[in-house]
Amino acid sequence: RSKVDARGSFRFFEPEMDARLQARRLFEVDLREAVANEDFEVHYQPIYCLNAERICGFEALLRWNHPVRGRVSPVEFIPVAEELGLIVPLGEWVLRRACEEATRWPDGLKVAVNVSAVQFTSASLVTAVRDALQATNLAGHRLELEITESVLVANPGATTAILHNLKMLGARVSMDDFGTGYSSLSYLRSFPFDKIKIDQSFVRDLCAEDGTEFIVRAVIGLGASLRMTTTAEGVETEAQLAKLRAEGCDEVQGYLFSRPVPAAELPDLIAHWNGAKRAIA
Ligand code: C2E
Ligand code: MG
Ligand code: MG
Ligand code: MG
Repeated sequence: RSKVDARGSFRFFEPEMDARLQARRLFEVDLREAVANEDFEVHYQPIYCLNAERICGFEALLRWNHPVRGRVSPVEFIPVAEELGLIVPLGEWVLRRACEEATRWPDGLKVAVNVSAVQFTSASLVTAVRDALQATNLAGHRLELEITESVLVANPGATTAILHNLKMLGARVSMDDFGTGYSSLSYLRSFPFDKIKIDQSFVRDLCAEDGTEFIVRAVIGLGASLRMTTTAEGVETEAQLAKLRAEGCDEVQGYLFSRPVPAAELPDLIAHWNGAKRAIA
């Protein structure tokens, strides 16, 4: 009898398991095809400098618009691309695209490119960055590479070497999503980061009166002491902006200024925030 039950439940679960596996397989097939066809877009979100009161750069954010699936979030497809080993070609494509695009911007505006942990530890990252800079003729100091805390924990020794090699090319390195990972404050001191990006979860609760503002104040202070630029992510309200300004945060980024937009919309954004005449003069 128990045999029958076991078989029955097995049969019951089988089609469901199958459906999930098949859906995942189809997702992988679509993603592979999209990478092979370069079926992606890069959108750009302004990073606003509070001291200069103007846009100082843009973060490149990958977009996948599938004919049937519609917009697929990078939060969904980046982990799959990492598992399939597709993140290296995909990451190199974004890097090249973003550097190329940045050469069209006025005033030495910078471009920030996200680097996944898998791509960071792949042997080819430093070469890919060098190639992208050479091929596009973009000055190294205009490129910022955003890295999350997870890469530090995995292999601190290798990380330091890679960061130094990237900096030899003139590129800047930023610690992305700071405060969400497992790394301790002492990690920041041990690595040559130029910038700390305060995760949007802290900015969201900045006005909640639950102590978050003290954490943000501490991180901004830490950045100042370590001579690192501090950038707040996910700024959506004037109240958040006012607090960040008062705390001495260097840069802000979020929907309050602009959502990430296609490259074609950048001239208007730059004209709006930096003034068309100032940009040309
Ligand atoms: P991230 O690097 O921390 O990027 C910031 C995310 O916050 C972006 O989401 C951006 O659209 C969103 N954002 C910006 N301002 C606001 C705001 O005011 N409010 C809210 N709620 N969100 C805001 P997105 O584009 O969906 O990207 C999510 C994550 O996917 C990124 O987080 C990054 O980790 C990853 N990602 C995106 N593009 C790439 C890429 O080219 N390569 C790699 N390796 N990862 C990427
Ligand atoms: Mg980022
Ligand atoms: Mg971030
Ligand atoms: Mg994030």
